[in-house]
Amino acid sequence: MSGHSAHILAEDLHDEHMKRISRRNMLSQASWLGTTVAVGLPLVASAAEPSPNKTTKPRLKIVVTGGHPGDPEYGCGGTIARYADLGHEVVLLYLNKGEWTDKPSRDPGPIRVAEATKACEILNARPAFAGQIDGKAVVDQAHYEQFHRLLEAEKPGVVFTHWPIDNHADHRAMSLLVYEAWLRMGRKFALYYYEVSNGEDTVQFTPTHYVDISDTGPRKRLACYAHASQAPDKFYALQEMVARMRGIESGCKQAEGYIRHVQSPDFALPMVS
Ligand SMILES: [Zn+2]
Repeated sequence: MSGHSAHILAEDLHDEHMKRISRRNMLSQASWLGTTVAVGLPLVASAAEPSPNKTTKPRLKIVVTGGHPGDPEYGCGGTIARYADLGHEVVLLYLNKGEWTDKPSRDPGPIRVAEATKACEILNARPAFAGQIDGKAVVDQAHYEQFHRLLEAEKPGVVFTHWPIDNHADHRAMSLLVYEAWLRMGRKFALYYYEVSNGEDTVQFTPTHYVDISDTGPRKRLACYAHASQAPDKFYALQEMVARMRGIESGCKQAEGYIRHVQSPDFALPMVS
């Protein structure tokens, strides 16, 4: 799919940018980890605009992990945009660069990295890569250690990863690598699981938490379509169906569903409205 012109993208981004500015102004009086609780849902985590007269308000560091470029965007793109709009720092950490080592002459890796970079720009996030190979994920002691060091260096407050019951081995690998790092880091960051390409990849997923992405859905769509080499017409249509269903479940137009690990700290999801 290649019909998404840069011109349209720029216009859409401009509109989104203006919306974000007004949204930030509206939120500027909110307090970080404030007192707002909505029917058993996590606290609002909102960061105000930096004020020259006050010490800088604490920002959350959010790491959204995925087996491949595109997974975090499809599973959590609307939530990522909400975090970014609240002034938090978001990193999209991909297990690999979507490269093909067995067909180096047709290696799509550079294209996939460029697409991920563009998607992160749209969502106001930073791309990072964990150094594994597409389709050949390794989970062993050495890789547990390597990934632990990588994640620890990011000092995350919140981490999202694949639900472990998933038909793609790279997704399962990422889920296990994150889980082991979480244990080794003393279960200190909030740990949430997300769903992507349900049925084909994620299986048996029943959310415990929802984030309303009705406002950020258009930006999520742009971020997904930035992965133009990955059949976004097909996969975005599927993910949008899921978002609409999660919206029905949680009482909004579109939502992203998450499962919080039962032993995870309970905070930090942008509140369902
Ligand atoms: Zn994937």
